[in-house]
Amino acid sequence: MTRVYGIFGWPVAHSRSPAMHNAAFAALGLDAVYVPLAVQPERLGRAVEALRALGIAGVNVTLPHKTEVIPLLDEITPAARAMAAVNTVIRREQWLVGDNTDAEGLARSLREAQVALHGASAVVLGAGGAARAAVFGLASSGALRITVAARNRAAATALVAELASHAPAVTLATCGLDAELTSALSSCSLLIQATSATLGASEAADAFAASLPLEALPASATVCDLVYKPLRTAVLVRADRLGLRTVDGLGMLLHQGALAFERWTEQTAPIDVMRQALGHDRTR
Ligand code: NDP
Repeated sequence: MTRVYGIFGWPVAHSRSPAMHNAAFAALGLDAVYVPLAVQPERLGRAVEALRALGIAGVNVTLPHKTEVIPLLDEITPAARAMAAVNTVIRREQWLVGDNTDAEGLARSLREAQVALHGASAVVLGAGGAARAAVFGLASSGALRITVAARNRAAATALVAELASHAPAVTLATCGLDAELTSALSSCSLLIQATSATLGASEAADAFAASLPLEALPASATVCDLVYKPLRTAVLVRADRLGLRTVDGLGMLLHQGALAFERWTEQTAPIDVMRQALGHDRTR
């Protein structure tokens, strides 16, 4: 019988996950299909019940459901618990496990781009869900120091406090997006742009990129923007001009999807097929 997978989101029509997963199923000859499932926030509980009742094999979960879905599941993995967010639901008979592959997906994407994570000194811009995944992913990959830089200092402090117990060997700090950021960047090897400020090509995105003291980064530093619409964000364009190494956000999307695929199917994900379905060029 055809196995059905999907993605819960609202809105969800824009999601690139169906193309990526359907290409992977076809490449491995699996009798499975992956569909977008538009779930209104007030109907999330019923959607999870439908998942059980219909025998849907697994789902990804995207905004705005990543946190709200937690109490509706039977088990939450330590990674998802630490990030307070689920992006993958794995079904074991009637038992639903909530996992999160975002942090590991980012780490894989950076390693694929030959970025050294062990011993890294990183600055993460933003204090939302993507920043939380980035901090957890870097801390789990051997980073030595991580500074969370956000305009909302209280949110940065709360994020660091919540993740501190998961990163006992890491020096965690916070700073604003002001002069303190210049100092933090001057001694960092990796900058992760995890705000939504670069989303969409706009004057505001350009102004945000121009406001960052990227020239303070060491010449050997890497700049990664988690936003992938546009693929070359204003921050990556500026970093390119300064001669810095850059990594786009599509790699994280690809690898979090590949990890979800592997959790569901227990088969190695056909990464190049999935990359092609996303239109990702790993050489850029
Ligand atoms: P959230 O809404 O949870 O957080 C957004 C963060 O951006 C907040 O800290 C917010 O600050 C900050 N921010 C927004 N605008 C500005 C600005 N002009 N200046 C400074 N800070 C700003 O979103 P997520 O963390 O979930 O996602 C962030 C981005 O990451 C998304 O746009 C998405 O495209 C991308 N993403 C990519 C993934 C991938 O697989 N590549 C996975 C997940 C996300 P404040 O609280 O002060 O408003």
